[in-house]
Amino acid sequence: MGANTTPARAFDNRLGIHALVWSGSWDTDELDRAMGASAELGYDLIEIPRFDPAKVDAKWFRSRLDAHGLDVVITSALAWDADISSADPAIARRGEQMLLGMIDVTSDLGALLLGGILFSALGKYPSGPTAAGRANVVASLAKAGERARSAGLPVALELVNRYESNVLNTVAQGLRMLEDAGSDAISLHLDTYHMNIEETNTADAIRLAGDKLGYFHVGDSHRGYAGTGQIDFDPIFTALVDIGYTGAVTFESFSSEVLDEGLSNDIAIWRNTWTDSRAVAAHAYDFMVERFAAAHARRAMLEGRQID
Ligand code: MN
Repeated sequence: MGANTTPARAFDNRLGIHALVWSGSWDTDELDRAMGASAELGYDLIEIPRFDPAKVDAKWFRSRLDAHGLDVVITSALAWDADISSADPAIARRGEQMLLGMIDVTSDLGALLLGGILFSALGKYPSGPTAAGRANVVASLAKAGERARSAGLPVALELVNRYESNVLNTVAQGLRMLEDAGSDAISLHLDTYHMNIEETNTADAIRLAGDKLGYFHVGDSHRGYAGTGQIDFDPIFTALVDIGYTGAVTFESFSSEVLDEGLSNDIAIWRNTWTDSRAVAAHAYDFMVERFAAAHARRAMLEGRQID
């Protein structure tokens, strides 16, 4: 648990932190510093957006993860000219190649999971999804599911808000897509920031996802310090405990203090929500440990069990 002073964890979930809390750079010293700081604060995994083996040597990266005792999750998104939700067969085909390539790269890295917007580009679409486009998503995800299964790599679709995709915004839509694509290698990646915008009730939506939940992002309504925004996290952690979710929970936060030229613009990070990476990271770790522990304690009380 590193140098952290919080009590021993009362839960099995791995806790992660998004790399953009530390750095948006592919410089090896910066990446290594981000990994070291994450491990030191007690985190079990670091999430890297849009991992590109052309920018950083995958073997070096894997060896540094091992040295720091960290797991890695890779998240990504498709592109406007490579998009499986397009009705244009050429664009959809390029999207499928991009998605299969991501599965190969992520699996070669020995990552825990591939998540993110794997069914469309990341950005505001000018109009709603088309039937032909959705059919392309179903067909490509079925193939991606086969590739993921043979690679032994879990893949999770991140349900994002309406300004970041027009294909899947809610758990109900995500569950229908999983059924249509028909692969048990693919699950749902939920994020409290997006759910706060799209769901009727975030805790109920987590319960609806149930055992189809594969990865979880903790992000507050302003994407800043955990627990300082408008999201009520206690019912959310209670729901995670209620469904028996034992997967990874990763803190995601963005500030114009730390920028990635592509991603920061795509998700509209225009202002500072914080300036001190280490402070926001340390705070989020304690926040998640405490909220999880409290949710487990409530569950134990309900069941009449003694807790330490
Ligand atoms: Mn997210």
